[in-house]
Amino acid sequence: MKIVLIGPPGAGKGTQAKRLCKELGVPHLSTGEMLRQARQQGTEIGEKANEYIMSGKLAPDPLILKIVDDRLAEPDCQHGWIFDGFPRTVPQAEALDQTLEAQGDSLQAVLELLLDEEVIVERLASRSRGDDLPGIIHRRLEVYWNETAPLLDYYRAQGILKTVEADAPADEVYDQILSLIHS
Ligand code: ADP
Repeated sequence: MKIVLIGPPGAGKGTQAKRLCKELGVPHLSTGEMLRQARQQGTEIGEKANEYIMSGKLAPDPLILKIVDDRLAEPDCQHGWIFDGFPRTVPQAEALDQTLEAQGDSLQAVLELLLDEEVIVERLASRSRGDDLPGIIHRRLEVYWNETAPLLDYYRAQGILKTVEADAPADEVYDQILSLIHS
């Protein structure tokens, strides 16, 4: 299973991706977590990424594509994965398609987690991550609508986009996801 989860910050991508990965026995690939880990380890990529994370902007595509390529080359990724927070721009999606195509492979499904902006802001306000401050949240939402939302049309055109009502309680969201990926 090769699946992508797309949704605004606070949509529950991480929570749902982790549970689904456990069930399917595939790795959870969160580019946000990879960047935060790189930052903790004090690597060059981590330091560079921190500036973007803390300003609510996207890290540059080449930097993201490098960490993604490195991660996909690891043995545990050969039989599937779930991406959470990647791709986030059309060039990132095109790069992922090219990588998969070169392997004679393709994505099974792209799940869009859809929810109201009010709920997003409420959820993020109750988290305690360094980039969940009101100003940064606002910027990340803007970036989502401008740079990531166009991906929905990109995948809709491929016929693999499925929409999940993410306002519901986590268990219900998870049930929706399971039935969509098995349909
Ligand atoms: P959320 O979806 O809640 O905003 P993430 O952990 O996915 O959280 O991302 C946190 C930050 O990491 C983003 O605001 C961005 O700066 C950076 N980031 C993560 N994934 C990507 C990506 N695919 N492309 C560019 N920047 C990214």
